[in-house]
Amino acid sequence: MLRILFAFILLLSFRVSAQHYYLTADRVFDGEVIHEGWAVLVQGDKIISVGPKEKVSAPSGSIKINYSNAMILPGLIEGHSHLLLHPYNETPWDDQVMKESDGYRMARATVHAKNTLLAGFTTVRDLGSEGAGYADVDLKKAINDKIIPGPRMIVAGRAIVSTGSYGPKGFDRDMKIMLGAEEADGDNLIKVTRDQIGNGADVVKVYADYRWGKSNEPMPTFSIEEMKFVVETSKSSGRAVVAHASTAEGMRRAVLAGVETIEHGDDGTQEIFELMKEKNVALCPTLAATEALIQYRGWKKGSDPEPEKIKKRKENFKIALQSGVTILAGGDVGVFAHGENVRELELMNEYGMNTVDVLKSATSINAKIFHIDATVGSVKDGLKADLIIVSGDPSKNISDLRKIKFVMKDGVIFKNE
Ligand SMILES: [Zn+2]
Repeated sequence: MLRILFAFILLLSFRVSAQHYYLTADRVFDGEVIHEGWAVLVQGDKIISVGPKEKVSAPSGSIKINYSNAMILPGLIEGHSHLLLHPYNETPWDDQVMKESDGYRMARATVHAKNTLLAGFTTVRDLGSEGAGYADVDLKKAINDKIIPGPRMIVAGRAIVSTGSYGPKGFDRDMKIMLGAEEADGDNLIKVTRDQIGNGADVVKVYADYRWGKSNEPMPTFSIEEMKFVVETSKSSGRAVVAHASTAEGMRRAVLAGVETIEHGDDGTQEIFELMKEKNVALCPTLAATEALIQYRGWKKGSDPEPEKIKKRKENFKIALQSGVTILAGGDVGVFAHGENVRELELMNEYGMNTVDVLKSATSINAKIFHIDATVGSVKDGLKADLIIVSGDPSKNISDLRKIKFVMKDGVIFKNE
């Protein structure tokens, strides 16, 4: 009897004692707007109350965390990462795909995952393992199983390219070269899409164009009909399709086939952005990857004159902004260092988007586009406790997002300076 009573008390105390955290800072950005003098109450893995300090009280036994001259935000969401890649100025992409084993790449990825989380990015949409099979699916599992620290992951697995278009390329044809993604064409796209889903892809990525033109310029790959096979197959499993596309024609075909987001969109025109808006397709501009690649070729930002490509991207970003197409935040991180994710948000601001819109993009908008807004992306009661605190005020200076003081994911504190 005593034993049962003891067990009951233990159970009761465990239930009651799900720790409360009472977070305060000068400002709270809730995913939409900024509030002064608010508090956020967390219990277990959830946000249970948010509002003015007078209205949200701390239950006894709460752990109080207060930062002054600081802002509480939802955990940031990276819209385009490759945790299995590392910067191309360290090792060229070809060499990472062909020479680095999956085991080695996975070991690196565990560090990348940690750096991402500690930089305040509590969720990532990881768009392709680039030759590391389904290591992204396994990385996600290791994080979810709490083996290693890392962000929530939405993963694409191997991704799909048309035969003959993707790299690594340029070797003796007698050699069997492993590619950075899986080839498929025509009817076979249905089987490959199903196979990738079966292997754990949360989202299916297609390359609507790639650098396979006669002078290696980007040219469309799949037909609209081919991409429709992928979209319809994915849709019946409840998954979205996203498209790598930098040419206007590649973007147009992908949009008409029914993809949900366009990655890069370098040569998007007013007409294409308007089509995207009409079809409810979001743009992921990956400005940071473009800048990184040009810098790896020697451009010194700030001292050297601005390369044509950058001028064009700035112009193109302004057209996108004016068109009203939804812009999500994703930098193609992996091309540059994991943990440096804020770079994309800084560039979105530098290229003409106001700071609050950038903050929205990296939180509530990304969450909505990725269909996870009922779980994360806002500071709202009932949502998962994915919260960060930064010094300063990123609505005044976006780079204040680099001043990370506190990171909580799923109610667990990973950083508290
Ligand atoms: Zn990418």
